Amino acid sequence: MEKFDTAILGGGLAGLSLAGGLKGSALVLEKDAVPGGLCRSFEFCGVRYDVGPHIIFSRDKKLSERLCALAPTARLRRSNRIFHNGRFVKYPFENELSALSPEDRDYCVREFINNPARNRDAGNMLDFFLKIFGRGITELYLKPYNEKIWKYAPALMDTQMVERIPRPPDDDVLRSARGEATEGYEHQLYFNYPSEGGIESLVKGTVAALPGSARVLAPVRVTGLRREGGGWIVSSDKGEFFAGCLVNCMPLPELLSLLDTPQEIRDAAAGLLYNSIHIVMVHALKDALGDNFAVMCADRDVIFHRLSKLGFLGPAYRPRSGGELIMAEVTFRPGTPQAEMDGEKVAGAVLEGLAKTGLVKPGDVAATELRTFRYAYVIYDLKHRQNVPKILKYLQDGKILCCGRFAEWEYLNMDAVLARSAALAARLNNEL
Ligand SMILES: Cc1cc2nc3c(=O)[nH]c(=O)nc-3n(C[C@H](O)[C@H](O)[C@H](O)COP(=O)(O)OP(=O)(O)OC[C@H]3O[C@@H](n4cnc5c(N)ncnc54)[C@H](O)[C@@H]3O)c2cc1C
Repeated sequence: MEKFDTAILGGGLAGLSLAGGLKGSALVLEKDAVPGGLCRSFEFCGVRYDVGPHIIFSRDKKLSERLCALAPTARLRRSNRIFHNGRFVKYPFENELSALSPEDRDYCVREFINNPARNRDAGNMLDFFLKIFGRGITELYLKPYNEKIWKYAPALMDTQMVERIPRPPDDDVLRSARGEATEGYEHQLYFNYPSEGGIESLVKGTVAALPGSARVLAPVRVTGLRREGGGWIVSSDKGEFFAGCLVNCMPLPELLSLLDTPQEIRDAAAGLLYNSIHIVMVHALKDALGDNFAVMCADRDVIFHRLSKLGFLGPAYRPRSGGELIMAEVTFRPGTPQAEMDGEKVAGAVLEGLAKTGLVKPGDVAATELRTFRYAYVIYDLKHRQNVPKILKYLQDGKILCCGRFAEWEYLNMDAVLARSAALAARLNNEL
């Protein structure tokens, strides 16, 4: 039986970058033929596209530099819009209130200035929006948009994810209502993106830099895990392996399905909520998105929450045959209406939404393609703070460490994934 210091389950960015940071020998076991997980890219009309466009940004300059070092990238300035009642409003919404109709603008300003929630504690996402932005901005945009992406009531969601949102200076919001240009979310105002190949270029860069002591096995099906000889035996359809240390980088439900856990942990696992995503690609011969990249749409009658025009990312992301590629994102979860629709119906509903908004006319659609990804977004429901630590502690006590977005059940972007895998690699190297 082959022996490794560390076995890593799941070859997404977390598993691969962890393998890259370990001093001892490491085996990454990945179920798909191509590693990369959510950082994979696919081809449509000769162009590489991601699972939702993955931009490279971070509040931590060193982390964005580390990501950019993995492949040649271009630096771009954000040009995102919210499509609200037939108008484009610059993103974030509160930074261009002057683009709203006079009634909507006055409603937002009035409620922002006279905000009874301002000094209240926010116990859930909806309260947080009301406290920071007031009822106008919340009702017109934040609430319907978040209901659409999460398919979950913001009043039943924890504040963990949104509490990172910076409070806009009052003056910026009021100036924006008077038509003066202001910018919000400045840590994302500039971002990088691979000059070609989509975000998977970063995965390729990570794999290329792996030391000789790291091996990636893909595709492989892990069928069992058992403690033996002070370490772990990992059984799979490619044989058995021994590892002194086991790290899980795959989604928690996938790991837990391999373990015999007590009822308390099974109950906590049953409470882990997440959304899946359909990515619908549209080759449009003409469009009305302008020179924008992402366009958010909170309209309840339109199926997608976000459109992205890939040509914004550079010449490699425009089809040679002409036109533009527009990506539409649709989230779903068992029990939501979108989960009952087959791929053809989802793509049809996306085209209806494009026609209804006037952003792409039916006669201008040359081709479509749909892909579905099971684990896309962790939902921070009000039990998240109880369920997740309970499961992670149980696993850690049983000598299984977890690293990554669905392995730690947190809304982690690529920069946070790199930070977590680097911290874990340092810890394991120390212990070795
Ligand atoms: C729509 C969307 C847009 C995003 N946009 C951005 C962005 O703009 N910027 C940004 O920084 N981040 C973005 N992210 C987040 C980014 O994708 C993640 O932070 C990162 O890819 C997580 O990597 P990971 O390795 O933790 O998880 P994953 O990529 O989920 O990796 C898990 C791996 O485990 C494998 N696996 C699962 N089950 C098994 C099994 N049974 N056996 C073996 N292997 C298994 C999977 O195939 C996968 O390769 C976005 C995510 C989504 C969904």
